[in-house]
Amino acid sequence: MPPFDPDRLPAGTTGVVTVDLAALAGNWRALAALVAPAECAAVVKADAYGLGAAEVVPALAKAGCRTFFVATAQEAAQIRTLAPSATIYVLDGLLPGSAEALHAINARPVLSSLEQVKEWAASTTEFPSPLRAGVRGRENPIGRGGIFCALQLETGLNRLGLGEAEIRALASDTDLLGRLDIGLIMSHLACADDPAHPMNSKQLARFRELSALLPAARRSLAASDGLMLGKDYHFDLVRPGYALYGGQAFRGGKTPVTPVVQVHANVLQVHDMPAGEKVGYSATWGCNGPRRIATVAAGYADGVFRHLSSASATIGGHVVIRGQRCEIAGRVSMDLITVDVTSVEGEPVQRGDWAELIGPHITIEEVGSRAGTIGYEVLTRLGRRFHRVYLGEADMAGER
Ligand SMILES: *Cc1c(COP(=O)(O)O)cnc(C)c1O
Repeated sequence: MPPFDPDRLPAGTTGVVTVDLAALAGNWRALAALVAPAECAAVVKADAYGLGAAEVVPALAKAGCRTFFVATAQEAAQIRTLAPSATIYVLDGLLPGSAEALHAINARPVLSSLEQVKEWAASTTEFPSPLRAGVRGRENPIGRGGIFCALQLETGLNRLGLGEAEIRALASDTDLLGRLDIGLIMSHLACADDPAHPMNSKQLARFRELSALLPAARRSLAASDGLMLGKDYHFDLVRPGYALYGGQAFRGGKTPVTPVVQVHANVLQVHDMPAGEKVGYSATWGCNGPRRIATVAAGYADGVFRHLSSASATIGGHVVIRGQRCEIAGRVSMDLITVDVTSVEGEPVQRGDWAELIGPHITIEEVGSRAGTIGYEVLTRLGRRFHRVYLGEADMAGER
């Protein structure tokens, strides 16, 4: 990812989220190559993990991605406008009475119960979709309507999925099966970040066993970490999200992706303070000697977790200014953090400098672990107030 360049920002920019669409596309290509001949889809729920689906989805489609997963029907409607011919799966499945909205945009629910399966099958005759003309038979020649869905099987995560009794009931109901076009049979791993965890092979075996009860269809088990567990886990399609955005959650080695996101915020003021002064709300952080404190224009409203606060005896979050690490001093407030820059060497830190919150020195994983959470939450909480810069091939770059 190219170094942060503050030169062409609009005057008054307090903070910047930089998203490298070329790196994102490169990550998708790298994962697609790793799992071939399996298909590599992209999970773009929650506004592409907070990075902006409006920019991320066209970049992935241009790289060759044809299948997208979102959580909700509303998200699917947005993705449909961005990728008119893509296959879109809705992970939350079918909410009561929501089939028509999915048919209207040719989106496929990931069905997780027999009740959902029945409601969907009934809807395929109620709401025939003009969008599905030509789709019939391409993926499932024995299907009846050409209106596809996915089936989610419960293999151990115990979150969403058809249990064994429901799967057996469906398998023996030929009338119901005959009204379904199953585009995908899938399940989700609970412990894929840890390759040594016994749950992985247990869920793999369970997925094979349960999917074998149903008519043959394409199958999918792995997300970002699952695809790192090896070929056995790839099946016909993998569904990474986090890794596409540069995430490295897998503990068994490096996922072949590069960072996509950087976050920087502006230094508004620098104070030289004598010993004994306190910094920030509730006066939790005291100067145990002369200290230089920089106030930076980023707070919890911008996605800086309040759990990155520090008191005198504890260490909270870090930022990097002039290439050097500095600790957050005191409480994170809504719009501001205060940072101890006393030991920064060279030119003194001054108004107008930029602080790296996420970037070459500070990964999303580090921020997550310092805040007692995970990089996924760091990404999805990035605030909407910061200026956004999208880097990429010339025709993809832009600002908003
Ligand atoms: C969110 C999600 C994914 C993507 O997971 P990552 O760890 O971000 O790759 C895949 N499958 C399901 C069912 C999900 O909920």
